[in-house]
Amino acid sequence: MLVDKNRRIVVWVVWAIAFPLLSWYAYVITPFEREMNWLGVFSFAILLIGASMLPIVVNNTPLSITQWVTLAAFLNFGLFTELILAQIAVFVVLFRLKLPREQWYRYPLNSTMFAFVSLISGQFYYLLGGSHDQYTINDFSFITLAIGYIFVYFFANQGLLTLFHFIFNKTKKQVFSEDFFWELLLLICIFPIGLILYFLYNTMGIISTFLIGFPVMSMLLILNIYYNSQQMNHYLKKAVEFGHRLTERLQENEVLDVFIQNMIQIFPIDYLYVLQKNSEDQLELSRKYEREKPSNSDHPPRWDEIPKDRWRIKEALLYKERKEWKPIFEGYVPNDAESVLTVPAMKNNELTGMVIIASTKKRMYEKFHLHIIDMLSSYLAIALENARHYEKTKHQSERCPLTHLYNARAFTERLDREFHRLNGKKIHALSLLIIDIDHFKRVNDTYGHQSGNEILCQLADLLRVLVGNKGFLARYGGEEFVVLLPNLDKERANLFGERIRKTIEDRTFVLFDDLSEVRRKLNVRITVSIGVATAPKDTDDPITLLRYADRALYNGAKRVGRNRVSTYVG
Ligand code: GH3
Ligand code: MG
Ligand code: MG
Repeated sequence: MLVDKNRRIVVWVVWAIAFPLLSWYAYVITPFEREMNWLGVFSFAILLIGASMLPIVVNNTPLSITQWVTLAAFLNFGLFTELILAQIAVFVVLFRLKLPREQWYRYPLNSTMFAFVSLISGQFYYLLGGSHDQYTINDFSFITLAIGYIFVYFFANQGLLTLFHFIFNKTKKQVFSEDFFWELLLLICIFPIGLILYFLYNTMGIISTFLIGFPVMSMLLILNIYYNSQQMNHYLKKAVEFGHRLTERLQENEVLDVFIQNMIQIFPIDYLYVLQKNSEDQLELSRKYEREKPSNSDHPPRWDEIPKDRWRIKEALLYKERKEWKPIFEGYVPNDAESVLTVPAMKNNELTGMVIIASTKKRMYEKFHLHIIDMLSSYLAIALENARHYEKTKHQSERCPLTHLYNARAFTERLDREFHRLNGKKIHALSLLIIDIDHFKRVNDTYGHQSGNEILCQLADLLRVLVGNKGFLARYGGEEFVVLLPNLDKERANLFGERIRKTIEDRTFVLFDDLSEVRRKLNVRITVSIGVATAPKDTDDPITLLRYADRALYNGAKRVGRNRVSTYVG
């Protein structure tokens, strides 16, 4: 619920006026005859605080089960005491939610609401003749009245919740939601406990709060522990699945995408930063997620500038609120963050990266978050390492080490893929050029093998520029290069081949003679012969296309004198 500042002020003002009035009214109408047992009230207050601190989580909504105490308190001590005790419960429940400042208005809001609920239900009880006599367990009309009281309490609460929701959100809250029925069911279950507490207190006094309180609190505590372990299990299960998904990814970018997507799905995160060491050994931001643009994002922080000695970087750390992280991360983590969790990624005892998550709520993360995210960061580090390794191996396996062009294997793979596209009518033509250096053996014999290599490299660079993103260039063999040209028909491929041939013919390759003692500067000219074939015009088979281009090269270019482009003729 987002409420603007003016409305928040109105809520406080309304509370400041209404609450004393309601309390005074409650005090006046409480028909109190018996002497007030302050110790009794105090022990009820203790029960109430305990019950408020141990909510039961149903459908991810924590529900505090306190009506068994407030019911018994009302029947024993009257409306005014019940009203004050209920306020304690409101305070404890809200306090446990760790509300950020902008939501503090919920204290007066809930306080006012519960004061009304207390008044309505108490008034109802008195109007129907209820009093604070010491009823006994076989007094049927009293039991009926008590049931009436608790239901009026429940419906007044639900009704006011819906009304307030409407006032603040301008939308109708679904009244008979799943939560509504859960709360009703819980109320029915705990009503007898409240009643027993009332009777026992009547007969035994203060010891009854212990006799009833102890088993009920134990049960709530066990449910809480059970829920926490369930939650931990749930997180662990998700984390393991998430880890698998991470390590399945083979590209660094994909790994980071999967990491961010899953983290923000699983954990309550407002900000997430993934830092990695770069080649200069500095921490660099590789990815970030910000639920909303933080106010200090105009000047992106340089993470490597965080003084290293101030990071206890070898361990994962949990900061519960701003003042704990401020001395270290001020200017790096957005200012409105409260809870921050920093997890280093280590390899061989050295920092390789860092994951930082933050929430705008205080005390958002628990120790178990830290452990799970620590584990996930290790997964991330491994997945990134794998991806890098995979990318490197892939690069090596498909490139020629001398010229760094694609090799024959990568070429045949690409050829198949392009034919696939051709067959699927994604492209209308596919031309193939084979470029072979003329009399390259002579170049080697004259200037040495090393110089030959140098020419191959320079030629590769030249071809790379000429082909650009028009096609796919590879070194097919020793001094043979191939170019795949999608969507280029035979004629245009021929023209393109001619351009390549001419450019090479006009180019002077500069190298240093490695056969002579003094490394003379040499200007070497070379020429190339080029064979062209085009699919589907010449063939619709990849290997045949290659063979036809080769045939055009030898029959049409090499055999008739070299330094020319020849297209295949069937
Ligand atoms: P043409 O193609 O015009 O018929 O004559 P060529 O001399 O180029 O003939 P061929 O294709 O038979 O010879 C290719 C030569 O290329 C053989 C080899 O010395 C040289 N060669 C092949 N690979 C390399 C390489 O990686 N480095 C160097 N320096 N030379 C290579
Ligand atoms: Mg050759
Ligand atoms: Mg040759």
